[in-house]
Amino acid sequence: MKVVIMAGGKGTRISSVASDIPKPMIKIEDKPVLEHEIECLRSQGFTDLIITVSHLGNIIIDYFGDGSKFGVNIEYYNEVEPLGNAGALFRLKDKLTEDFLLINADAIFDIDFNRLVNYHKEKGGLVTLFTHPNSHPYDSGLIIADKDNKVLKWLAKEDERPEYYKNRVNAGIHVISPMVLDVEISTPKIDLDRQLLKPLANTGKMYVYDSPEYVKDMGTPDRYYSVCEDFENGIVQKRNLRNKQKAIFLDRDGTINKYVGFLTDINQFELIDGVSEAIKKINHSEYLCIVITNQPVIARGEVSVEELDEIHNKMQTLLGKDGAYIDGLYYCPHHPDKGFVGERLEYKIECECRKPKPGLILQAAKDFNIDLNQSWMIGDGKNDVLCGINAGCKTALIGNGFDADINDKSLLKIINRIL
Ligand SMILES: [Zn+2]
Repeated sequence: MKVVIMAGGKGTRISSVASDIPKPMIKIEDKPVLEHEIECLRSQGFTDLIITVSHLGNIIIDYFGDGSKFGVNIEYYNEVEPLGNAGALFRLKDKLTEDFLLINADAIFDIDFNRLVNYHKEKGGLVTLFTHPNSHPYDSGLIIADKDNKVLKWLAKEDERPEYYKNRVNAGIHVISPMVLDVEISTPKIDLDRQLLKPLANTGKMYVYDSPEYVKDMGTPDRYYSVCEDFENGIVQKRNLRNKQKAIFLDRDGTINKYVGFLTDINQFELIDGVSEAIKKINHSEYLCIVITNQPVIARGEVSVEELDEIHNKMQTLLGKDGAYIDGLYYCPHHPDKGFVGERLEYKIECECRKPKPGLILQAAKDFNIDLNQSWMIGDGKNDVLCGINAGCKTALIGNGFDADINDKSLLKIINRIL
């Protein structure tokens, strides 16, 4: 599969770090970002590259040449007149005869590309967007998708957004069919997001690929320095899903949000003080942060699946405002006891996912390639600890009353001890 790397951006906001070189040539541990990207691609068998360059592009061409020194083939497309970030794709149409990977060069990443491409083929869409939660969803474009991961809405930064939303941001890595280029666009410059991709929302032809792997842009000096730190600590590489992951599983009610018994009204959902700070620390560590919760309110007929989704959107929105995010969420909608008014019989079963059974954690382990022995389950109840033990995790309990590997007063205190 061909890879088109868009390396033409100017990167003015990061000019205090390096102003005389193009952004993809900024170094992380003595190597340009673009070289790290090329190594990541080559190691997974992607060696057929086209790099689009503009601003100071000669520096990139001088460094990488035809790619042979780096084990890949590189062709360049030099944008003499500004075409917008998608303009070059139309000029390259003859070379793009099959689905291709399209990558922004101003991010550092380490992802399992074959997993992404296989998913794209399985879904059969025209476009698959690599999406992930980030630490600043409030000023990022958002993607809203349905249960089948089809994109319903593409909300650019400037678009009005719902009050509560899932923290799902386009990471600038895509698999694209050349059929996307079969459109007439008459503007002299063509914007990839707004003119090519956004119009595919709600057509059933574009999918999201949610992943917790490491993709971060270096748009500001602060973000650049934090990426360098993550690289040094090995976090960038470890997050590649080809590698076994470590996770911290969190219970929801009483652990993340204030305990109110069965939570049935979205207005009852409030974060516990210190939780955002604790989750932010997990986000900066090598652990994934995954929520594991029993929600028998579904079986009891007190909350619909849509209402529960909205409660979880509120959780993600509140965490996002504080710069924190979760990598995954699994809930059990079931309850075994029948015979109540208003119950939904289809959920009244003896299932394998209701804590203390380990079903939800086992499913997460499968989805994210998690090593459970290296992972933690944290909650405020005995069932959380038992669930962790049943799944083979280390355990921590907020409060006393049952012995876990760690007992402490708050999530933040526990996280400080684990990390
Ligand atoms: Zn269940």
